Amino acid sequence: MALAQLIDGRLIAARLRKELSEKVEKIKKRGRAPSLAVILAGEDPSSMIYVRNKEKYSKEVGIEASLYRLPVQTGERALLDLIGELNESPDVDGILVQLPLPPHINAQKIIEKIDPRKDVDGLTPWNQGCLMGRREGMVPCTPLGCMELIKSTGVSLEGKTAVVVGRSLLVGSPMAQLLLKENCTVIQAHSKTKDLFSYTRQADILVVAAGRPGLVSGEGVKEGAIVIDVGINRREDGHLCGDVVFEEALQKAAFITPVPGGVGPMTIAMLLRNTVKASAFFLPQSSDLIKLEEES
Ligand code: NDP
Repeated sequence: MALAQLIDGRLIAARLRKELSEKVEKIKKRGRAPSLAVILAGEDPSSMIYVRNKEKYSKEVGIEASLYRLPVQTGERALLDLIGELNESPDVDGILVQLPLPPHINAQKIIEKIDPRKDVDGLTPWNQGCLMGRREGMVPCTPLGCMELIKSTGVSLEGKTAVVVGRSLLVGSPMAQLLLKENCTVIQAHSKTKDLFSYTRQADILVVAAGRPGLVSGEGVKEGAIVIDVGINRREDGHLCGDVVFEEALQKAAFITPVPGGVGPMTIAMLLRNTVKASAFFLPQSSDLIKLEEES
């Protein structure tokens, strides 16, 4: 069988950012640019890189990004107060709290404080409920990006078997919901799943989001599958790798995402899209523009 076709997340994300920048340009003409507040507490090196990229790409598409950098010892109260202020601010459309937070802060409490309309990460219980209940809301960026990558293959999803490895609220669980919405038959695996490959081998669409390097080898991949590798792991030699053994899966899948250059760039593109979407709530003069264009 021929090697799988690569799904180029960088290319697709660049295309999406270009579309977004055109939309942002029109929104700006009607008032102000959509705006995103990013909160970073502490100095986690990976978080600092992610936040830098979020700022960089916001700027590229014309979104106004403000970074709130807080020292690691910041207390929960101070963080809740900051979110309260940002919720009230007419100049802020989206709020993102970079996770993980320092261990003395209850992340769930912080997230629940975000106004669901400004919750561009889609993590508040309100937005989780919207996804469950098939209502319009903010969907977490990574699964939204994965869905775009899956759809880019042009393969019809209805009736296909989809296996999601992972059940986090950030990735695995919303991913499973999105695939269900596309009428896939969905199996969700996690760390207590027995004989993982007996499920993954059934997958026409396999999304792996476990954070375990090399968890899924070629043996666990069905011939002709679409494989989306969400995992980002740093190998001992410093290079990044996913949760799938890429070289082996390449021999069996029809489509596969690389790591890096697959899901990562899409996560940021979806954050920007969610910010533009959130701005429809707060820039009423632009809401018709945003809605009309999303429907077309
Ligand atoms: P979590 O640690 O929150 O969740 C991991 C999930 O994988 C859990 O549900 C866990 O099961 C499951 N799991 C762990 N080990 C196994 C195993 N051996 N077999 C089957 N399932 C297993 O991670 P996230 O969901 O936040 O992220 C997952 C990965 O995706 C990480 O590598 C992360 O870095 C990456 N990531 C990448 C992004 C991107 O933009 N590319 C964005 C976000 C995350 P259980 O629930 O039983 O513990």
